[in-house]
Amino acid sequence: MTTANLLEFDLEGLAAFCEKLGEKRFRATQLFRWIHQRGASDFAQMTDLAKSLREKLATTARVEALPVITQHESKDGTIKWLFDVGDGNAVEAVFIPEDDRGTLCVSSQAGCAVGCRFCSTGHQGFSRNLSTGEIVAQLWFAEHFLRKHLKRDDRVISNVVMMGMGEPLQNYTALVPALRTMLDDNAYGLSRRRVTVSTSGVVPMIDRLGADCPVAMAVSLHAPNDALRDDLVPLNRKYPIAELLEACKRYLAHAPRDFITFEYCMLDGVNDQPEHARQLVGLVRSHNISCKFNLIPFNPFPASGLLRSPQPRVLAFARALSEAGLVTTVRKTRGDDIDAACGQLAGDVKDRTRAAERMAQRRVSERTVVLHPVRKTAPQEH
Ligand code: SF4
Repeated sequence: MTTANLLEFDLEGLAAFCEKLGEKRFRATQLFRWIHQRGASDFAQMTDLAKSLREKLATTARVEALPVITQHESKDGTIKWLFDVGDGNAVEAVFIPEDDRGTLCVSSQAGCAVGCRFCSTGHQGFSRNLSTGEIVAQLWFAEHFLRKHLKRDDRVISNVVMMGMGEPLQNYTALVPALRTMLDDNAYGLSRRRVTVSTSGVVPMIDRLGADCPVAMAVSLHAPNDALRDDLVPLNRKYPIAELLEACKRYLAHAPRDFITFEYCMLDGVNDQPEHARQLVGLVRSHNISCKFNLIPFNPFPASGLLRSPQPRVLAFARALSEAGLVTTVRKTRGDDIDAACGQLAGDVKDRTRAAERMAQRRVSERTVVLHPVRKTAPQEH
């Protein structure tokens, strides 16, 4: 008989499951706490549940984590796990410790169909959406592993960023219950401000998320104009920048933070010139949107054909935005000795969409934008 994996349920879903077993809804809250707060997977351990319920659960349910294929720990404390999600697919999650927080970067899909040029995951193509349970299992495993590993009783993970493999808003129905479990005080109790969904700009789903489960939002912008963004983030051809920024403004009416974070991956000679900074400033002003910029040093991989912007140019770009009044940070790269830095998550994906093949063809016949290394002589940059 197939049993239900209880990691698939948010509290509402678990209450409905308990009702089907003929149990009162409050039993779901007890069960939810055992699973998520205490990391229990053995129903026999759950001693404050009636024996009759434990017996029913033993035959109808399970709490099943994802098998860990590999675990790598960086010298800076970053830990990356590769999880087996079956059928030859594997996804990655990364824990990034900092003085005042512990952040888990979580995957939402095996691969990704968006196909951003600078992203390892995008180059692998797309296999399938993860289920709610597979998204939650990354947090469930990491939190309870880390408590033991770091010998801590209190919560280790304070922040979750949906910035691993996949476009979370293209897996909306699985994402929302997973977010609800992260936020639930009977589970992880994370603040809405500390759970971030990162999107490449699925405009209709930004509106739905604002209505259904608003959390902090990061948008992968990466270009200041449509011609360039069409090439770097192909979803832009469907939802161009102006539409995306208007959706961000609507989202802010619901968001727990009063700004959107714009992620901007710095690509040598592609999007890192003073003109690009000026265009970004103009864009933000013309849409009058409250935002912060996070500049990300690109982590090169051979298939991309792209290079990291030199650090002086990144700093000059940051300065140009800051001097125009835009709050701008430059992301520290973490875990790059274990390929856990931003854009390096690659997992293992059986590409069912031939996206990887199409991307390889695109590299051969560049269309809209000429990508070329910038001249290395600009004195202010070096
Ligand atoms: S950056 Fe995000 S949306 Fe773009 S290909 Fe990578 S995982 Fe997909």
